[in-house]
Amino acid sequence: MIDTINSIECQFIDGKFQDGSGEQKIDVIDPATGLAFASFNEAGAEDLDHALTSSFDAFKAWRIVSARKRQDILLRAGDLILERAEEIAVDLTRESGKPLAESRVEVATSVEILRFYAEEAKRIYGRTVPSATPGLAQRVVQEPVGPVIAFVAWNFPAVNFMRKVAAAIAAGCSIIIKPSEETPVTGARIAGAFRDAGLPDGVLNVVYGSPDVISRHLCASSIPRKLTFTGSVAVGRQLIKLASENLLRTTMELGGHAPFIVFKDADIDLAAKLLIAGKFRNGGQVCVAPSRFLVHSSIHNTFVGKVIEQAGSVRVGPGSDETTTMGPLANARRVEQCTLLVDDALSKGAKVAWAGTIPESDGYYFAPTILEDVPENAQILIDEPFGPIAPIVSFTTADEAFEIANRLPYGLAAYAFTSDQKLIRRIGEEMQAGMTAINTLQVAAPEMPFVGLGWSGWGSDGGPEGLAAFLTTRIVNEAIV
Ligand code: NAD
Repeated sequence: MIDTINSIECQFIDGKFQDGSGEQKIDVIDPATGLAFASFNEAGAEDLDHALTSSFDAFKAWRIVSARKRQDILLRAGDLILERAEEIAVDLTRESGKPLAESRVEVATSVEILRFYAEEAKRIYGRTVPSATPGLAQRVVQEPVGPVIAFVAWNFPAVNFMRKVAAAIAAGCSIIIKPSEETPVTGARIAGAFRDAGLPDGVLNVVYGSPDVISRHLCASSIPRKLTFTGSVAVGRQLIKLASENLLRTTMELGGHAPFIVFKDADIDLAAKLLIAGKFRNGGQVCVAPSRFLVHSSIHNTFVGKVIEQAGSVRVGPGSDETTTMGPLANARRVEQCTLLVDDALSKGAKVAWAGTIPESDGYYFAPTILEDVPENAQILIDEPFGPIAPIVSFTTADEAFEIANRLPYGLAAYAFTSDQKLIRRIGEEMQAGMTAINTLQVAAPEMPFVGLGWSGWGSDGGPEGLAAFLTTRIVNEAIV
């Protein structure tokens, strides 16, 4: 599979690793240096057709494999991923920039997701419904939806991949996934574990190339029955249009701009600690990262002081350095976007409360930055920053805080800190978010749905709902004659 550093065979089609037949070479860049460390040929039209036919053929056989047998294969793949975890984590860091410690956690989490779905697929039940018509047996049957196509972002190359693949395969679907071309190695390594665990050829295909060409090609085919996506609102919109041509069902896990409200009776130390932990993990390139910090005016100065104290623990450097707590950003686009957002906020009157230092390097480093007095019209309070910038604004009443929090069309995660029990109940009711967390940052777990409202999308990539996303419901009525 990944034998040499320069040329990688990361297309996984019909059970075999190969280079793409397309004309373009794609470089894989190490964000810590800005230099390419590998390259591969994009998938061409014939590769995509091959992936489609193998997905079609594999689905016919895989859908009738028992859930227990599917579970065995999935669990074996999980064991192999764990055996290879360190190797995978090193590659994951090299292609995404994140600290090695985060990559290790991510690989382990991807296996937890896999194990959850391996188990959960044994609980795909139908039901028998009593009928008003004598002698009529009414049955509701749950079945795999069919071959699936998936597109996922680079920010969690193992977890984003596994959320789609594990649930689809466990449900009895075949799946063609296009992870990001910027992080191709992790997906290929995980596909290798599935192959070695005995997953039949064609149940999983992994392709890389021009995202636009691939999505158009796959959506034009009548083979897929479902499209599932993790990425930005802009690309989500394009894919929904493409999916409509063949009436594919869709799951959309899109962007967010999570409010983080610190009420006056909050545990300020905890909130300050979690701002640092949540905002600078993976350089803030996390769809559920807190990104708008609303602080009660009476505690604003104390809170900012504590945050600055805590910020001293952030060490920016290459992800491969074990002392690094924040790596480079994943690509040059993110650095440009973060620079624009900070410049815009400063030009409108915001102040830098704290900024970290970055190494001298051609890598994609961006200094973690905490802004205060950020005006309402600053772009960073409107656009998802997807980077290590914490804009702090103050509020005076709970109503005002909820109004600001719910102002945007996004509705992915929301966080709030308070010790007032009545307010805790109200937060749960008021926040327009798919995932609300109070006095904690914990929102994602394999057994829990991972969901957005509004522009953050629909459907779920977690919990039993994540399995249901790959099932279809039929009824079978039997009259005894
Ligand atoms: P993006 O939408 O530009 O890219 C995401 C993926 O889609 C990449 O693999 C890319 O190659 C692919 N893509 C791009 N154009 C495509 C096309 N025309 N057809 C098919 N695939 C295409 O997103 P990004 O900016 O790289 O990633 C960050 C975004 O992803 C943020 O908005 C973030 O919030 C979101 N995200 C959401 C979740 C979630 O679960 N809700 C999780 C992670 C990331």
